[in-house]
Amino acid sequence: MKIWKCTVCGYLHDGVEPPSSCPKCKAAAEKFEELSEEQSKLVERSRESNQYHVELLSLLEQVKEISVLGREDGLDPGCVAIFQQAIQAATELGQSIRAEIVAHISKGKWG
Ligand SMILES: [Zn+2]
Repeated sequence: MKIWKCTVCGYLHDGVEPPSSCPKCKAAAEKFEELSEEQSKLVERSRESNQYHVELLSLLEQVKEISVLGREDGLDPGCVAIFQQAIQAATELGQSIRAEIVAHISKGKWG
């Protein structure tokens, strides 16, 4: 499977041929360039690991939502402290994941 990149907006297309036009920016097929085998392998490999990051981000958002509910429930100070710690930990880990995704993108490990 070949991977084609829109040189206008960066959209990636998997296929034997480029699309007739870019689904994102509507650029013509001629604006697509085929990624090298090395670039394609990097993108294919990173799709899986990036998906792990995205799924973890989603779970961390759930941790924060649940923890906010728990904190607002205002039980004893021990419970509130745990919920507050969970919010902080989920926030920091989420920001670390976002920074890692930015690093992936800058290395072409995205798509
Ligand atoms: Zn495009």
